[in-house]
Amino acid sequence: MSTVYNWQLGRDAEFPYDAAYPDQQFAFVFNINRCIGCQSCTMACKSTWTFSKGQEYMWWNNVETKPYGGYPQHWDVKLLDLLEKHNPGGQKWNGEAKDVKAPYGQFKGQTIFEAALKNVSPEGAQKALGYLPTDEEWAAPNRFEDHPTGSEKSLKGKMGFDGGETLPQHKTWFFYLARICNHCTYPACLAACPRNAIYKRPEDGIVLVDQERCRGYRKCMEACPYKKTLYRGTTRTTEKCIACFPRVEGRDQAGGGLPMQTRCMAACVGHIRLQGLVQLNQDGTWKEDRYNPLYYLIHVAKVALPLYPQFGTEPNGYYIPPRWVPRPYLKQMFGPGVDNAIERYSNPDRELLAVLQLFGKDQRICSRYELKEGPKIFETEIRGQPFAMYNDTIIGYAKDGTKIIETTVEEPVHIRPDKHANSI
Ligand code: SF4
Ligand code: SF4
Repeated sequence: MSTVYNWQLGRDAEFPYDAAYPDQQFAFVFNINRCIGCQSCTMACKSTWTFSKGQEYMWWNNVETKPYGGYPQHWDVKLLDLLEKHNPGGQKWNGEAKDVKAPYGQFKGQTIFEAALKNVSPEGAQKALGYLPTDEEWAAPNRFEDHPTGSEKSLKGKMGFDGGETLPQHKTWFFYLARICNHCTYPACLAACPRNAIYKRPEDGIVLVDQERCRGYRKCMEACPYKKTLYRGTTRTTEKCIACFPRVEGRDQAGGGLPMQTRCMAACVGHIRLQGLVQLNQDGTWKEDRYNPLYYLIHVAKVALPLYPQFGTEPNGYYIPPRWVPRPYLKQMFGPGVDNAIERYSNPDRELLAVLQLFGKDQRICSRYELKEGPKIFETEIRGQPFAMYNDTIIGYAKDGTKIIETTVEEPVHIRPDKHANSI
């Protein structure tokens, strides 16, 4: 084991290999508050990459309904249970949130790599604490869709509800969790592969499986805490999300040579997704890049949080947590930054409101944004605090400085002329 710095945990952590960071890192933000569970992302990925024989059960992108849904079933609960068994009562955070080196304080528990050191079986120690899901667990990927918890029916023993519920938290709730491979900084799939078939690209941090080297031992499936590598019976190898790397490289003709977001990001009907590339320091922390929208959302506004950071892989997928869900559930999933993130999202300042307009506006990757101030158009109170909305303009630029987005906070209304009122 080597010691690496994991900024999401605010401390050094164990990893089977020495630290090696790419020049820039593929990363994304999903705004759960906007996801409508339409599965357009899922089908965009499926129809691009996994429509062939042997790939029938594969969903590199999936959207599951939490808390009960999961692909494979109960993937997160099973791993949380394993970690708890290895470190009873110790999976806790403490300390104050600091700079980019420890934005959520410090994790005092054990990661999957640290717990594995004590998990020695007759075959030796695992590289990462994990388990291999059964075939049944991969089946029915959207089981429990739209299935809420905390139903008032069960509480009061009658049908229906006594009217609507109000924020901050609902008694009856569910939410959609859209997931792809997190192209982790410390990938457990890579760490566990006995064939060194998995590698992280130095140019963008995308994690890929070399199909020539893979022998289908499925150690990566056992180790990946997010269960995002999948076995293909027809080739006897493992496959996974490739982050649509030809698009990220700017090789999709539709982008005119500019880096483009992945298919699942571009197809998202709810405009919940924003994907890009972030610059890294030599220790793996993020280089200050104030007007890169991902840097802003994660390190300045701090509204987007990593998924299960305590697993220790430093995932590069971030989520704006849903406002209506009980906080203990969210803190277990996204760490201690939840209260702050929901507070900022519920009462956004004018910059955050403008940056949220960048989601889903263009397929090309936005590397930098600029704000132009506009007039005040609305004011009100949000739970006792004043709130003002300004019709600012936000402009997004691609890597080479090409302007790719220009939009206002107040979205324009288009009135369809009479002659097109009925399209038949
Ligand atoms: S999410 Fe899983 S498959 Fe993807 S890089 Fe991380 S450990 Fe590997
Ligand atoms: S396309 Fe977007 S809104 Fe629809 S399920 Fe996927 S992430 Fe959610």
